[in-house]
Amino acid sequence: MKVPFVDLYAQYTDIKPEIDEAIANVIKETSFIKGKHVSDFEKNFAAAHKIKHCIGVANGTDAIYIILKMLGIGNGDEVITVANSWISTSETISQTGAKPVFIDIEKDYFTINPEKIEEKITPKTKAIIPVHLYGQMARIDEIAAICKKYQLYLIEDCAQSHFSTYKNYLAGTSGIAATYSFYPGKNLGAYGDAGAIITNDDTLAEKMRMYANHGALVKHQHQIEGINSRLDGLQAAILNVKLKYIHQWNEKRLQHALTYNKLLSLINKVQVPSIRPESKHIFHVYSIRAQHRNELLAHLKSCQIETAIHYPTPLPLMPAYQYLGYQPLDIPVAAEYQHQILSLPMFPELTTEQIQYVVNAIKEFYVV
Ligand SMILES: *Cc1c(COP(=O)(O)O)cnc(C)c1O
Repeated sequence: MKVPFVDLYAQYTDIKPEIDEAIANVIKETSFIKGKHVSDFEKNFAAAHKIKHCIGVANGTDAIYIILKMLGIGNGDEVITVANSWISTSETISQTGAKPVFIDIEKDYFTINPEKIEEKITPKTKAIIPVHLYGQMARIDEIAAICKKYQLYLIEDCAQSHFSTYKNYLAGTSGIAATYSFYPGKNLGAYGDAGAIITNDDTLAEKMRMYANHGALVKHQHQIEGINSRLDGLQAAILNVKLKYIHQWNEKRLQHALTYNKLLSLINKVQVPSIRPESKHIFHVYSIRAQHRNELLAHLKSCQIETAIHYPTPLPLMPAYQYLGYQPLDIPVAAEYQHQILSLPMFPELTTEQIQYVVNAIKEFYVV
């Protein structure tokens, strides 16, 4: 048996007629940039969050950059974020001229530790960007309270958490704005690069829409200099189809995770991911912590099981951030976990047989 890490083609074959029709329509209407499909998706995605505005952009990285920039964050400012994430979260902070400040993750949950935030707040701090990593929300209520106390902007990076919940909070609805990536492998994925921003702030929404479109809301009327970061018609039409299925796909991922958790909890060399009470984890990534991780990864590869590591090096320990001077002791949990984490195959179309095969291969590794 072969188990891929994700299988995007399986998902396509399930909804092929609808996707093919959506793509054909965009081409027939030559609605490639802007147009009805983009505005429909923006409306649908905003409504699904009960949020006023959605701005489609080119990708999830631009989404973060555009918010920071339009909030006026730049030289001399600091923005707090989390040590274990994809580099988009921090490189966009630097691109504005601001300095990223990294906080360790919470034991067992992989998201920013709210108890470590306040000690890093300075008069230069302007915003906090928590990442709802792997599909599980950070403790957003506590983070929002800190933002309120210190008058900081809260920006949620929801690239891995389309419609996760924690207590009464839906991902993306607690701060000034939230960002989404629709990179093909994300829970809601396009057939190329795509992203979005949601916000309830009318003024900010208009500014961001303008900035993402060369600084113009009306053609040739450039109020400011901007960038070219647009969601295109084909991606929007595909996302409109897929948006109808996201909850059912998320639910399937969760069920697969529960199956993995049940079967793997019998192996004492493996720590299964914890799910917060009162939450909906959407398992973008199913990451275990394993002893002898690298050897296990090699063993699984020899069994034709694809795995990944999210992420092999915490951001502050990357060469790109050497100049900031972080040591592993500054982020002890992330620094410890980087050697243990291993992401197993996870996608809605995964079968019970495939899960069983992965689990058996892991058992075999530790017994031999
Ligand atoms: C995927 C991802 C992004 C960036 O999204 P792109 O669409 O690839 O630019 C940002 N943050 C996190 C946490 C991500 O996983």
